[in-house]
Parts: sequence; structure tokens; C-alpha cells
Amino acid sequence: MLINVTRSSLPPFEEYIDEIRSIWETKWLTNMGEKHNQLEKELETYLGVPFVSLFTNGHIALEMAIEALNLTGEVITTPFTFASTTHAITRHGLTPVFCDISPSDYTIDVERIESLITDKTSAIIPVHVYGNICNVHEIDKLAKKYNLKVIYDAAHAFGVALNGQGIGSFGDISMFSFHATKVFNSIEGGALTFSDEKYKNRLYQIKNFGIASPESVIFAGGNGKMNEFCAAMGICNIRHVNEDINNRKLVVERYKERFMGVKGLTLLQEQKGVSQNYAYFPVVFNEKQFGKTRDEVHAALAKENIIARKYFYPLTNNYECYSGRYNSNYIPVAKYISERVLTLPLYGELTQQDVDRVCNIVLAD
Ligand SMILES: *Cc1c(COP(=O)(O)O)cnc(C)c1O
Repeated sequence: MLINVTRSSLPPFEEYIDEIRSIWETKWLTNMGEKHNQLEKELETYLGVPFVSLFTNGHIALEMAIEALNLTGEVITTPFTFASTTHAITRHGLTPVFCDISPSDYTIDVERIESLITDKTSAIIPVHVYGNICNVHEIDKLAKKYNLKVIYDAAHAFGVALNGQGIGSFGDISMFSFHATKVFNSIEGGALTFSDEKYKNRLYQIKNFGIASPESVIFAGGNGKMNEFCAAMGICNIRHVNEDINNRKLVVERYKERFMGVKGLTLLQEQKGVSQNYAYFPVVFNEKQFGKTRDEVHAALAKENIIARKYFYPLTNNYECYSGRYNSNYIPVAKYISERVLTLPLYGELTQQDVDRVCNIVLAD
């Protein structure tokens, strides 16, 4: 039987039907309706952030955050991420400046940021990776010192808090993705979170064509509005997300039991003071110590109908569309991890037997 790398969370069928019933009464399908506004409020509470603005998806949210902050010139970011982060930067005519990642948590290496800052730098767009968070305090210090904006790609960090403070409250703006494959989904969807109220109205206008009032359009905005059916899915899923994260935790604990102490395997380290969301289970394979390469393990699993993912590989700076463009900074850690990392199947409904099946194949001689 196929075991996929992830499986989308769905509420009980009847629960969703009950949730969307009122849409047949209101006939209000999109444009900041009841469901949309309710989900925004519920997420402000759940994520522990002052403000949430919902979007069609995480990527368009990130692009609209870049627009809201009027970024120019160069943006410091990492290539160890999903296509979305780098594309959002280049699609706005900005130049990504690639910074290496930390070998312990795979997020941006704060020791290397300062040397990449030039008089053209307007922002840092770091990525919280696999639910691990960036060194937000150091990044904050650098941003203040050099007057830079900070947008976090928090697509992996739903529900994560640092010493009880919602991770989406750091930096100027954070982007969350509610794509079907994420810990929390609204089918497709995304959100920006922020602490400064002034962004609320600006983002509302950017995602709604730059319309300020029925007869006044003040700039060329886009369309990034979340519809009522997606918001209704979000409202249902948020009721179950804690239970789901708990089930994910059990899966992760079983993986750890099986892999702990195996030579040549590096597992994700828990960060101090950071609540986990168990979004991904990445393993870094050191082929010399482990005896097999990442690609060999990937193929062995595929042969048994188990889909693991080389995530993130390739690095975004190596994409065809970027090769030879932009800087090829010194990024040895990102290169090393990207060539050796495999994320294993992980979702709440994955049984212990299936986890053991995956482990047996990974560990087989
Ligand atoms: C999923 C993801 C995105 C994009 O989110 P969508 O909702 O799919 O547009 C951006 N960055 C990272 C790191 C992601 O994992």
C-alpha cells in the first residue's frame, strides 16, 4: 500500500457540510465574508499574534507583504527553501542575496548576514524550516542596526511559539501557508501576521485591487482574497489541529526511537523554549558513516511504494531559471544538507506499523 510523504487533514464530512450550510442562505461566496472574518479572528487567538490578514495562498501573501513594505534592491534570504520564497523576491524585480544556513537548525546563519549587507539591501526574508525557528532576536538586532525590514517565511511554523510568544509576531510581517499539505490547511490559503496595525488596511487594499472605496482606486493592487469555502475548511480544521499535532508527535517519537544513536543519521534537534508542531521529519544521511546515500534510501523506499521527499533539493539558486544569475555566495552548509536530506512520511493518521515499515527499509543493510 502506498505511503505518501504527507496526507491532507480533513474534518469529518458532516462537519464541513454543517459549516458551509449558511453560505446557501447568505449567497456570499467571497470578498471578506462571515467565514473569512471568523477565521481571521480565530487565527489571531490560535497563533498568538495581534493581527492576521488572510490570503488565497501563502505565496501570494508573501508577494503582497513584499509590496506592502515597498522593498527595493537586494534582499538577504536563504536558498534552502521552497521555490516560493525566492520567486516572490525575483518576481518583484528584487535581487536575492543568498546566505548560508546554520548546521544545527537549517535556518539562516545569523553570523553570516552582516557581511552580505550593502547599501542596496532593503530587507531580510528568512525561513523558519521544518517548524524550527530562526534566531529571531539576532535578526531583529541586525534589522534595527541597518534599518532593514524583516519578512519571515513561516509556512512551516504554524502554531509554533518561542517562550510562549507566537512566532508570527516577530519581524515586520510573517507569512503562513494553509496549503493542503501543511499542518493546518484551508485547502489553499495563507495569511500574513503582524504587530503594527498600519499594515491591516494597506494589505486589505493590496489584496483587493487597490480599491479604497467604491469609486476610489488608489493603486494597482492584485487579487489575493480568501473565499468562504476555504475559510469554512479552515474553521473546521482549526478545531482538530491540536489533536492532529499530538498524533504527529507520536509518529515523530516512534521515528526517533528507531533512529536515535544510528551512526550517520542526523535528526532534527529540538530548540530550547520552542513549542513543536511536528510538521516534518527530515533525516540527514552521512553516506560515509551510514553506508548508504540519501538517494539510495529514497530509491529503496520508492521501490516499496513509500514516498519520501528530497526537501529542499535542489537549492533554489541552482534552479534552471536562476543558474548563472545572482550571487553564488559561500553556502557550503546549505549545499551539504540539501544533498543529504530526506523528509520521511509524516501525518497524524500514519500508524506505528507504517512508521516501522519505513524505518525497516531505511535501516536495512
Ligand atoms: C508551502 C510553502 C510556501 C508557499 O505556500 P503556498 O500556500 O503553497 O503558496 C512558501 N514557503 C515555504 C517554505 C513553503 O513550504
